[in-house]
Amino acid sequence: MTDSTVATLKASLRGDLITPSDSGYDEARKVYNGMIDRRPKLIARCADVADVIAAVNFARDNKMVVSIRGGGHNAGGLGVCDGGLVIDLSPMRYVRVDPKKKTVIAGGGALWADVDHATHAFGLAVPAGIISTTGVGGLTLGGGIGHLTRNYGLTIDNMLGVEMVLANGKFVTATAKENPDLFWAVRGGGGNFGVVTSFLFKAHDVHTNYAGPMLWHIEESVDILKWYRTFITKAPRELNGFFAFLVVPPGPPFPEHLHNKKMCGVVWCYSGSLKKAEKAFKPIRAFRKPALDMVGPIPHPMLQGMFDALYVPGLQWYWKADFVHELSDEAITQHVMHGSRMPTMFSTMHLYPIDGAASRCPRCRRSITGRPARWRTSTRCARTIVRPPRLI
Ligand SMILES: Cc1cc2nc3c(=O)[nH]c(=O)nc-3n(C[C@H](O)[C@H](O)[C@H](O)COP(=O)(O)OP(=O)(O)OC[C@H]3O[C@@H](n4cnc5c(N)ncnc54)[C@H](O)[C@@H]3O)c2cc1C
Repeated sequence: MTDSTVATLKASLRGDLITPSDSGYDEARKVYNGMIDRRPKLIARCADVADVIAAVNFARDNKMVVSIRGGGHNAGGLGVCDGGLVIDLSPMRYVRVDPKKKTVIAGGGALWADVDHATHAFGLAVPAGIISTTGVGGLTLGGGIGHLTRNYGLTIDNMLGVEMVLANGKFVTATAKENPDLFWAVRGGGGNFGVVTSFLFKAHDVHTNYAGPMLWHIEESVDILKWYRTFITKAPRELNGFFAFLVVPPGPPFPEHLHNKKMCGVVWCYSGSLKKAEKAFKPIRAFRKPALDMVGPIPHPMLQGMFDALYVPGLQWYWKADFVHELSDEAITQHVMHGSRMPTMFSTMHLYPIDGAASRCPRCRRSITGRPARWRTSTRCARTIVRPPRLI
């Protein structure tokens, strides 16, 4: 590729075009997972839809491999490629809330922290994940499981439409009525169908949850898991709770006597009326007194960002996830065996319930895999720090 070809693209962008000879190149090609070390030929920081169209057309005309980067959180590093063009949407982080219609428009490169901040001012929230530095793009197009899943469904169940640029450079809208097949495809099909430049979501009346972690000693984990698998499936849908094995981080807000201890726990989120919350927690607290009970009223964005500091970018993460329908006694035995061997506080296993509203969405046509599973398991661990943590 000649310098003048690259100069043509540079001239047609409002955002920056970064090449390997630029000083910001190494920073721009980093993604969340420190295991990923790819060297794209060009990184187009797209400022608007016109930039995205220019970048897509350029890649097609020059037969380049393309990767689309939203929040950069994909564990396998899908947001960056070797030798190709990265369409980096990070400048497109705008969020616009319509409080009357209770809808939200988010730019293709927005993070969930951007959405939570904008919607909270109106007492609204869009169901997202559990870490606020994750990108709206990748999480939504892959499904989206989080604290509001049992009450309001997956993130894609709350997606009303997208605007996107297709591989032929055409700008289209996809909703249940307009281009319905494409709308189906982007509800679970990832970034395979084009570059989403903006998302339209339905928001819900969520301001302050009754939420937080409850921890029990690891020796109690068989009892807790067996109780949890029955309890959560019968719990009111306003109550979400994901199970976790963890090593307690050695710092506040955790009490010193629990620091570095292997424990099990559930991170609860009751997103119904606060007046009914205490009642919903009565059977939980009656079952077995936790070693630590941090559950109480908490503003939604605070809950969303509660664990951000534990999942810092730049570590070498290994991640594995699966959808399962049943949590058998044998599965519990295996989980407890491996959960008890976690080497560091960066190793964990989460079990997310995907029942409730997420399983009762008859009008939701989705392309997501893994249905009609009841649980999603997620195991992760991190190795050596390869560079200082930074927020993406
Ligand atoms: C710390 C951490 C916590 C997480 N927690 C959760 C969770 O609670 N719930 C959950 O469901 N998932 C969670 N995930 C998984 C996460 O949703 C996926 O890794 C997702 O791909 C990240 O999206 P991103 O935009 O940040 O990633 P990127 O790496 O930027 O993008 C990944 C891929 O998504 C596609 N993509 C992204 N944006 C666009 C766009 N605008 N248009 C078209 N395609 C696009 C592209 O194919 C891209 O290559 C978590 C991941 C991490 C690292």
